[in-house]
Amino acid sequence: MTQMAGAMTGGCQCGAIRYAVTAAAPRTSLCHCRMCQKAVGQPFAAYATVKLAEFAWTCGQPPAFRSSTAAERHFCPACGTSLTFRYLETDEIGVAAGTLDRPEQVTPRVHFGVESRVSWMDPAFLQTLRSVRTDNAGAPQAVAALVNFQHPDHDTPDGWTPPAV
Ligand SMILES: [Zn+2]
Ligand SMILES: [Zn+2]
Repeated sequence: MTQMAGAMTGGCQCGAIRYAVTAAAPRTSLCHCRMCQKAVGQPFAAYATVKLAEFAWTCGQPPAFRSSTAAERHFCPACGTSLTFRYLETDEIGVAAGTLDRPEQVTPRVHFGVESRVSWMDPAFLQTLRSVRTDNAGAPQAVAALVNFQHPDHDTPDGWTPPAV
């Protein structure tokens, strides 16, 4: 495991895969295309795109699914987190913004793949939805009693073991 000074860091949900980004200002986009929808299992994907030279895996080396002749997408084989999108002919890689330790560090500037955008991904509609905090969302057990197996939002160079139940 290596550390990159001043980097944005991120990783998968289980912590088997970690990465660092040194780019000061990633180009961040939302993609609504049908392939991104399928790859992340959601109506759209948010990717922060940087040069390959500004990106490094710092823990683990994930496999990639070749989603077309043009692109590949890395994912964690242990927990299934979708991690990247990358056009093979470029020197760039997009990291899935939700996998950053601090997703607020990037801000999307453009919508791509709008031909597949689901009709309810509409600001006027979305703001009509009730907004509920996680601790009020009616989880099957009291949230305070849950044991969280998600890797913490920072590098753990000395190793990390999920809490025992
Ligand atoms: Zn994982
Ligand atoms: Zn897409």
